[in-house]
Amino acid sequence: QSQQPGIESEMTPEPIYDDANYKGSGKLSGKTALITGGDSGIGRAVAVAYAKEGANVAIAYLNEDGDAEKTASVIESYGVKALKAAVDVSKVENCKKLVDQVVSEFGGLNILVNNAGKQFPTNNFLSITPEQLRETFETNIFSMFYLAQAALPHMSKGDAIINTSSVTAYRGSPELIDYSSTKGAITSFTRSLAANLVNKGIRVNAVAPGPIWTPLIPATFDEQKVAQHGNDTPMGRRGQPSENAPAYVYLASNDSTYVTGQTIHVNGGDFITS
Ligand code: NAD
Repeated sequence: QSQQPGIESEMTPEPIYDDANYKGSGKLSGKTALITGGDSGIGRAVAVAYAKEGANVAIAYLNEDGDAEKTASVIESYGVKALKAAVDVSKVENCKKLVDQVVSEFGGLNILVNNAGKQFPTNNFLSITPEQLRETFETNIFSMFYLAQAALPHMSKGDAIINTSSVTAYRGSPELIDYSSTKGAITSFTRSLAANLVNKGIRVNAVAPGPIWTPLIPATFDEQKVAQHGNDTPMGRRGQPSENAPAYVYLASNDSTYVTGQTIHVNGGDFITS
């Protein structure tokens, strides 16, 4: 992973999502995965890594503005099936239809990656409206309930749910209080659902990325913040989507059969260095 070109000088114009050094070794062979937010950023890197590991991959995303077509063709280039669905996962009925579609096209569902997320541009706490609050919670956390409820009747022992949290759940965020609150909720959701499902052998974990170079960043922050994004981490740089993907592979595969209810922090370090 550390060999990736562009990682050390992180100002690559495009996020690196298909790491040429990551070959895959059939860890998810015969499995079927659904990844929300799978056309972009972190979700796309996970989709590609899962395809390299042999899974059929369905990607869901809000609209066709992103790179769904390209992502699907990259997935298929690794010899597995791809399915793409433009669907707003903040609505319960859409989530049911999405899961039905995946199950009917792929014959089952083994791995659910709840990764779709949104954040409104940095804001003043007093300016957060009820509508914004509702949209942020419905997209970032309600969708996880809806999709898990729809998916679980199709899942069985050995299957896995992985939720995308954020470093802001732990460190807080002075300007993204609505967003970081949803991410904090994801930690509790992950632990409680893991406890609920432990006897069924279905594991539930989360990944909490730190500052990662994806389209979400320029859409949220002003130019100065984008330029400084990640500089305050101990590693002194932001991460790439492809640096998150191996954690999602680990949590979906038999490498992590004794791990549930946990959050893996992929964030360049979050300790004080001086
Ligand atoms: P991104 O903008 O590249 O991807 C966001 C994805 O979510 C897109 O595919 C979008 O279509 C999808 N999405 C948003 N609202 C949706 C909806 N209502 N229905 C369906 N899909 C929807 O951003 P990203 O950085 O890759 O974000 C992925 C996840 O990672 C998010 O949950 C985000 O909060 C989290 N995260 C990102 C960072 C970072 O620094 N980039 C850090 C911590 C956590």
